[in-house]
Amino acid sequence: MTESTGPATHQGSCHCGKVRFEAKVDLGNVIACNCSICSRSGYVLTFVGQDAFELKAGEDALTDYQFGEKNIHHLFCATCGVRAFGRGTTKDGTPMFAVNVRCLEGVDADSLNITRMDGKSL
Ligand SMILES: [Zn+2]
Repeated sequence: MTESTGPATHQGSCHCGKVRFEAKVDLGNVIACNCSICSRSGYVLTFVGQDAFELKAGEDALTDYQFGEKNIHHLFCATCGVRAFGRGTTKDGTPMFAVNVRCLEGVDADSLNITRMDGKSL
């Protein structure tokens, strides 16, 4: 399961299950970042566009957190606190989703080839 086979559909959720989503992600392309929020949250992320992400439940269960330039919505479940995904837009206004691979069902994030990103220095 560590080999990349291209984008595949995975189910994701927060811990309590109020927030549920489906995302078509490429597990061969995941990052861990050392910036202030990623390191504290323990994120392992992969990025997808709007066509590859569907929130199935929990829009009203999400709390939004923003800081800095406020380009990104660092969402978390108001009940269990898990950060299953975030969303924002690229510079040209295209919606982007940052999926926390640790919240995908049946995925062992530690078995993946994780690219380390030095977001702290950006
Ligand atoms: Zn929850």
